[in-house]
Amino acid sequence: MVGCFLQASLALTNDEEDALIVTRTVIVRSERISKKLFRVFVELEGMYRNIVEQLVIYSAREGITSFIKLKALKYREMRNLYPHLPSHYVHTACQDASTRVKSFLKLKKEESTNKKYPSVKRISIRLDDHLWRFEGLTRIAISTHRGLIKVDLIPHKQLYRYFNSGWRLASEARIKIDKKERRLIAYLTFRKDVRLYKPSGYIAVDVNENNVAMLINRKAYLLETNIERITLGYYYRRKRIQKKYDKICGVKCRAKRKILRKLREEESKEDTRWKVANIIVREALKQGYGVVLEDLGDKPADNMISRIKDEQLRHRIFQAAFKGIQRAIEEKAKEYGVPVIYINPRNTSKQCPIHRSEIKYNGSRIDVCSTGKEKWHRDVAACYNLLFKALGGLERCSHHHPGLILDGSHVPLGSTTAHEPIGIKRSLWARLKSLDETMNEYKMIGMNIQGQTVRLSRMEHYR
Ligand SMILES: [Zn+2]
Repeated sequence: MVGCFLQASLALTNDEEDALIVTRTVIVRSERISKKLFRVFVELEGMYRNIVEQLVIYSAREGITSFIKLKALKYREMRNLYPHLPSHYVHTACQDASTRVKSFLKLKKEESTNKKYPSVKRISIRLDDHLWRFEGLTRIAISTHRGLIKVDLIPHKQLYRYFNSGWRLASEARIKIDKKERRLIAYLTFRKDVRLYKPSGYIAVDVNENNVAMLINRKAYLLETNIERITLGYYYRRKRIQKKYDKICGVKCRAKRKILRKLREEESKEDTRWKVANIIVREALKQGYGVVLEDLGDKPADNMISRIKDEQLRHRIFQAAFKGIQRAIEEKAKEYGVPVIYINPRNTSKQCPIHRSEIKYNGSRIDVCSTGKEKWHRDVAACYNLLFKALGGLERCSHHHPGLILDGSHVPLGSTTAHEPIGIKRSLWARLKSLDETMNEYKMIGMNIQGQTVRLSRMEHYR
């Protein structure tokens, strides 16, 4: 019912709009470097830092943000300062400095800083195509004031994947110096040209506290995510750590920072959002569909949880988590050329997608349409509404929407799908890469998903 309508109304109009370049940074550590060679890199970093510092002070004072202007004014002087340094380091240091000054002057304008100059604390040395090259797949050669130095990298699976799957290595890179470990850390940039395809349909995705609901070809799936538990858990632990250490050793405490950093690492290991994004984008790609997401800008705070008393704070924490998931979906989608559109979510979970009358939820996530008396699961209703809004039907004619017209029946949706989405536990989908795999696993454990007559996970999980 949906396919033909979509093709007609959602063809991308402009050819240039659907072409884009996706950029990713891959971090690779080097093997340990001998003391003698490592000293060269430490010297190099010292000189580079000094140049950047001088340039930053100069251009902040003079209000210069243009790299070309800065280079024109200061190149000679800096060159003469370190005549043995390959000249392109002055070039990249100018780029580095002008980026730093640009963001500093912006802060200054917003009155977010009262410093006179930006401080240059962390430094990574920028390299351009004259300053480094790859030799084979695991060794880089870097040009220094003591000649070309070759350093072996410790490759990882991710790096090989970028080398082997249509990405091209950019000529610019950065290196950081790890003095404790005597290693270099290389930041490699990969790029890929992507063309967004014209979708022949859409997957609607609704992100909630405890699941991500998706509607694919009239089947609704709920991926259990436990965002509520995870987000709040980390929020409280972070607060506790901060409170404890602020009392003992002041706000700027090194030990506290270390513990907080560890917590963030743990947090990122719970990479729920990337796994969810992967499942959704792979499915969209397979079907040639796009993805519809809610525009969270003004989502009402009606479905927020009650454990945090401060309503605004609660809202902010969850919006951040939801947007994190959406961003992951968008990033993944971009990489594979899957178009994504955002829809205003107003009333999406309160209105019956068929009759457009109110669905009243009395504390549960399933209830009855006030006109047609059919049952709706809140998240499924939201997905259908997002989809229909995406199709443009609601905007164009308010009383008929495309689903009804094209299908020709009074209840175009399967009688059970509307209130019995397929719930998939996190323990199941998180291990697997695609929906297919996940569903196969379901079959293996003996559940009938075809007719959807079997309730897979009694709905109490989602209330
Ligand atoms: Zn209805």
